[in-house]
Amino acid sequence: MTIPSSTSVLIVGAGPVGLTLALLLDRAGVEVTVVDRDSAPVEQSRAIWVHSRTLEIWDTIGMAPLAQAEGREVTAIQMRTSGRARATLPYDGTGISAFPHGLMLEQSRTQALLLSLIAQTRIRFAWRTRLTDLTRDDAGCRATIVTEDGATRTVDAQYVIGADGGSSTVRSLIGVRLEGGTYDSSFFLVDAIATTDLDTSMSYLNFHERSTVAVLPLPGDRHFRLIGNLLEQSGEPAEAGYGRAITAEEARRLIAANALPVTIESIGWSSTYRSHHRVAETFRSGRVLLVGDAGHLHSPAGGLGMNTGIADAANLAWKLADVLDGAPERLLDTYTAERRAVALQVVNTSDRLFVLQADGRRRFAFMRRTVLPLIVRTVTRTRAGRGLAFRVLSGAFVRYPAPTSSEGGRTTAFRAGGLLHRTGIDAFDRAVDAHAGRHLLVRTGRGGHGGSNALEALAADRGWDIVDLDAADARPFAGRNAEGLVAWVRPDRHVGWLGRDIRALDGELQNWLGAVRQPTR
Ligand SMILES: Cc1cc2nc3c(=O)[nH]c(=O)nc-3n(C[C@H](O)[C@H](O)[C@H](O)COP(=O)(O)OP(=O)(O)OC[C@H]3O[C@@H](n4cnc5c(N)ncnc54)[C@H](O)[C@@H]3O)c2cc1C
Repeated sequence: MTIPSSTSVLIVGAGPVGLTLALLLDRAGVEVTVVDRDSAPVEQSRAIWVHSRTLEIWDTIGMAPLAQAEGREVTAIQMRTSGRARATLPYDGTGISAFPHGLMLEQSRTQALLLSLIAQTRIRFAWRTRLTDLTRDDAGCRATIVTEDGATRTVDAQYVIGADGGSSTVRSLIGVRLEGGTYDSSFFLVDAIATTDLDTSMSYLNFHERSTVAVLPLPGDRHFRLIGNLLEQSGEPAEAGYGRAITAEEARRLIAANALPVTIESIGWSSTYRSHHRVAETFRSGRVLLVGDAGHLHSPAGGLGMNTGIADAANLAWKLADVLDGAPERLLDTYTAERRAVALQVVNTSDRLFVLQADGRRRFAFMRRTVLPLIVRTVTRTRAGRGLAFRVLSGAFVRYPAPTSSEGGRTTAFRAGGLLHRTGIDAFDRAVDAHAGRHLLVRTGRGGHGGSNALEALAADRGWDIVDLDAADARPFAGRNAEGLVAWVRPDRHVGWLGRDIRALDGELQNWLGAVRQPTR
């Protein structure tokens, strides 16, 4: 496709994060152009674990049913020590999310499905098109690109998004540093055809004396991803990144050394690697923003890399659309504040998991083989514990700082900064779903609400809908004093504000979104 000489948003990089962001922006009515230096999507399986929160985001762009049709559902993670089952951590968000389970889907398929959706939109897209230079000022950006035929061209864009992965050209060109380091241990990953009597609706984490191996069932017959730490380091990459392929014989030895009931028949893609734990010093520099691996790199423990990037896209898409519609530029600062904090948290969590999984010292072996299964068994004994485990694993736990004028909220379903979870009240949940990708006001106990007129006037001014929730229905998750509560639900379904004082809400909205305005696009 011919690349235009000007565009509203130029996304550099057609990985899973750049493609998701392009679709979210297109849905919000933003004109988008995507370029990628490669000639096709990746062929390797790479990131395979699709968390429930990612499915929720994908649902707003029509991707969730496509992913579900091809992916393999994962309902639990079983912990084993030297092959023996010790504890099972359910991955079950029934009552919390419309997508209560995880999904295994190869990144090659994820990208192909996202591209099939892109083809149905107005998004302009070009392979074999590399960003080589970038200048910007307060009015916009000018990107220099080298196209398929070797020609050098410029594209003017109001905003440029670096979705160009760990070695981001955009990040280098704007002089943003990546802070953090690289782990010492080397890992292997193998996609294998294998026979086993393991139940393929679960994933497995096996702790042996000095090593940890995960067995993750992939879509397809007897198809698994095996991932673990290498016991001997030979010929591994000196730097972080992906290294040599491993042989089927070596893979068999590694699995046998971990006492796992898995017989490898043949292997497909395989690699050794060393992981980074790095976060960019900022995700925004003027009109240039970073998403996904361009902003943060962490160990694959927890399968959070791609999923965290896709949540970046959901956070950024509505803010960028609103700013292009006339909201103040400072709204984009909340993107870097909110998502960088999450990236740091993810890096710290995966750091801890990484050390726990890979450290050969005796006390860490004791922790993973004895203490961890005990904690999992204890926590998952109660419904609340299982819900907590799901929220932590699935990405639903993320909570952004709430404005000071907001009430905190009492339960996880209805909490300022947190995601608006499922309530179990079908009509309400359906009404919220119908507003996906748009601002929404939720009001509890309409009859007793003193500020209803003011709220209705505010909603009418901004062109937003109000969804009502009966106070009695709201009580289980909004607390005893559920009457007259108002929530501003952002287009990414995070609760932006919660309270009763409509003037305070109005002030907060003016602060975030500016005064009511006519759309400029
Ligand atoms: C070999 C490999 C194996 C992996 N395995 C796993 C795994 O097992 N589990 C896991 O969770 N994660 C894995 N990851 C990480 C996972 O793939 C990433 O977290 C995820 O792809 C991030 O998506 P992204 O869209 O941010 O970036 P990417 O998927 O890296 O996409 C970036 C895109 O930008 C393009 N690009 C780069 N520079 C330019 C430029 N100058 N101009 C134009 N285009 C450019 C690239 O061609 C690429 O298509 C793996 C990564 C790699 C490289």
